[in-house]
Amino acid sequence: MDDNPREETLDPQNWDDLRALAHRMVDDMLDYQKNVRQRSVWQAIPSESKAQLDQPVPRAPQERSAIYEAFKTHVLPYPIGNIHPRFWGWVIGTGTPLGMLAEMLAAGMNPNLGGGEHAANYVEAQVLNWFKELLGFPRAAGGLLASGGSMANLIGLTVARNARAEVALREVGLQGAPRRMVLYASEQVHNSVHKAVMALGLGLESLRLIPTNDAYAIDLDALEAQIKRDRADGLHPFCVVGNAGTVNTGAFDDLNALAEVAAREGLWYHVDGAFGALAALAPDLKPLTAGMERADSLAFDLHKWMYMPIEVGCVLVRDAEAQHSSYLAAAGYLAHGERGIAGGPHWFGEYGPQLSRGFRALKVWMGLKEHGVEKYGRLIQQNVDQCRYLVQLIERSPNLELVAPAPLNVVCFRYVRDGLSADALNALNEELLNQLQESGVAAPSYATLQDRYALRVANVNHRTRREDFSVLVEEVVRFGNSA
Ligand SMILES: *Cc1c(COP(=O)(O)O)cnc(C)c1O
Repeated sequence: MDDNPREETLDPQNWDDLRALAHRMVDDMLDYQKNVRQRSVWQAIPSESKAQLDQPVPRAPQERSAIYEAFKTHVLPYPIGNIHPRFWGWVIGTGTPLGMLAEMLAAGMNPNLGGGEHAANYVEAQVLNWFKELLGFPRAAGGLLASGGSMANLIGLTVARNARAEVALREVGLQGAPRRMVLYASEQVHNSVHKAVMALGLGLESLRLIPTNDAYAIDLDALEAQIKRDRADGLHPFCVVGNAGTVNTGAFDDLNALAEVAAREGLWYHVDGAFGALAALAPDLKPLTAGMERADSLAFDLHKWMYMPIEVGCVLVRDAEAQHSSYLAAAGYLAHGERGIAGGPHWFGEYGPQLSRGFRALKVWMGLKEHGVEKYGRLIQQNVDQCRYLVQLIERSPNLELVAPAPLNVVCFRYVRDGLSADALNALNEELLNQLQESGVAAPSYATLQDRYALRVANVNHRTRREDFSVLVEEVVRFGNSA
């Protein structure tokens, strides 16, 4: 027997070399964040860099410092742009410097939050309890941190389907359901709900998209009429999804009215509050979310309007047992123990689809402690106030027009000029958006509302200042006038 085989490890041979590189990385990345305002929001990736990112698999080791140089040369300069103060595309948050460091600490510990008796699980439980408290859910409610709003919606709707099925859905599946299960949401609902409906085997035809009113909120009469029609047709209405902040315009459904419809009709009430749910942290905005606390399940993101690094979202489920029974699948190798590492009360792997789960709770725990929740409320209010300022700038400019109401932190507007057809205006604004992004000055995205192509600003950016919106408006008018 060989007592001295040549055994390998992935640890460095020389820790001091790695330590020196690590310090450089931390310094570089802090500078990268500190100086972001001086850079373009976005720039095109040169073909040389794309070629460097399309190489054969490395068979032999490379120098760590060379790998880091490759990252700095070919990856780091070409971001999507979301940490920049003039990025307002889609709904993508900025993250924070401490959040970045928390990610490193989490990766350093590298725990698995599927279950067991170790401190990281208590951190996640703590974070979940904080959000239950902040958003009006009882402490006994269930919940889970997830990769984002899409997964949070999927989990909430999975529990909804299972809890409201007329059969033991876990066992017999939808094939065993006597009637088609149908659910309701406004036509402004985010496509992650469509994806959840597809994944759950319900079929998109089961997702009844209800028209919206002028404020892009669900039309309650149309909702009731559709439920009645579906019942008359022998279908099984089981869930209504409310929007707390739609992706296109930031609209809120009447969440109290939806709670009442759900109670009256015996439906599960799920709310997608990806970013809008957090408006509840700002006292002046909180009334918009009234009724959200009545949801059976609530999905929201922390990497959008809580400014946490991507990825982290959250779902709260009022009935923890319903969540547990949706996901529990007994396995001898996962049996709980009375003592030791397999002891402990937190078995998050039984509350969602993932078994191995990362320590995304740490950045949330540290971020909330670093600033205190009231500061998050102030920043959310600040983003809304900045959008009101942008709306004023738009209203003052003869060449700009608001395309939808802007009740929150999303502003849809477009450049206009006399004598252009509807199609020409759409083409012009599309060109304008491309020029704006490619110039690196600012990065809104777009929305098409009632066939009008609009530039869309979604402000979940703690680095934005009002002057950034002045720059945006000046550039849009300048590009538009010269187009
Ligand atoms: C972003 C968003 C989602 C999806 O969240 P992800 O974190 O991107 O998965 C769902 N609903 C709304 C309203 C959103 O804005």
